[in-house]
Amino acid sequence: MSSVQMLLVVLLLLYLSEFVVWVRPDVWFFRRRGQGWEAVARGGLFTTPRGSLHWVYPIPGLSRAYCVPVPIRNSGSPSSAPEEPGAAGDPLEAIERQRQRVEQAFRPLRWVSWGLMSLIWAGAPVLLQFLGIGPMLYVVAPGLVILMVSNAWIVYRVHRRLFPASDDERLRLVLSACLSPLAAIRSADLAQKEAVAGFHPLAVAAALPRFHGWEALASEEWRRLKYSESTERSVESTRHPKTSLEASGILGEIESLAHRRGISTANWDKPPARDDPANSQYCPRCRSQFTRQAVTCHDCRLSKLLPIPN
Ligand SMILES: [Zn+2]
Repeated sequence: MSSVQMLLVVLLLLYLSEFVVWVRPDVWFFRRRGQGWEAVARGGLFTTPRGSLHWVYPIPGLSRAYCVPVPIRNSGSPSSAPEEPGAAGDPLEAIERQRQRVEQAFRPLRWVSWGLMSLIWAGAPVLLQFLGIGPMLYVVAPGLVILMVSNAWIVYRVHRRLFPASDDERLRLVLSACLSPLAAIRSADLAQKEAVAGFHPLAVAAALPRFHGWEALASEEWRRLKYSESTERSVESTRHPKTSLEASGILGEIESLAHRRGISTANWDKPPARDDPANSQYCPRCRSQFTRQAVTCHDCRLSKLLPIPN
């Protein structure tokens, strides 16, 4: 392998490393998949209790991803999103409107991203082949500097207007875009990651076009809320009187989202078929199955197991 080829391989690895994302466990991560979208909560390239590492498509535009924190207090309407859609508005329309608004505001960055892409992956290798490394740098470096400065300036201005409270995130974005042209290619998409933060993640999933696996995520969340509610009510509701009301509000909203997608929530609560003839009970929250002797669920610690009918 020649030194030029080595250089390109190292550059390619550095470029690809820009397209892995660290996701905290209290955040839902939405990324592009095929023509649509998916949410990844666990798994990934590497997982620890403090978070997991996930990849996105290494192409500007397709590498867009959204981080949506798990809501604690509110349900369908945003708490900190830049646009206030109003309580009476349709949450799905509000999410799509918000997404489009942010995308539109960062649109000028796409040209900068593609300019950097063509300069690094087409211009530089061709010039290197014909002129050698010194003259190539003379031609490419000023172009890179102009594009990186414009990129950082646009990121700073647009981000400050859309997300005035996210100072730390803005500083991080601008610094990384100034330090590396490879990071600058990514900043058009990275700057949009908070676009739909503040909405309920399941509403975001329902609003994203061609979302994969909505029902599986929704049913899991619905059971988690429904059964944590019934068992912990006595303790939780005396300590936090609002908690049970909020959970039942979110349950109702998940049900109405399911109804809009033509899904019946009655199926989410049906007893499962036995995995093993010895199993006679199941956990209504996580669907794990147990033998007659079990009293609590080993997986989620729910103490109320239900019988599996014959
Ligand atoms: Zn369980």
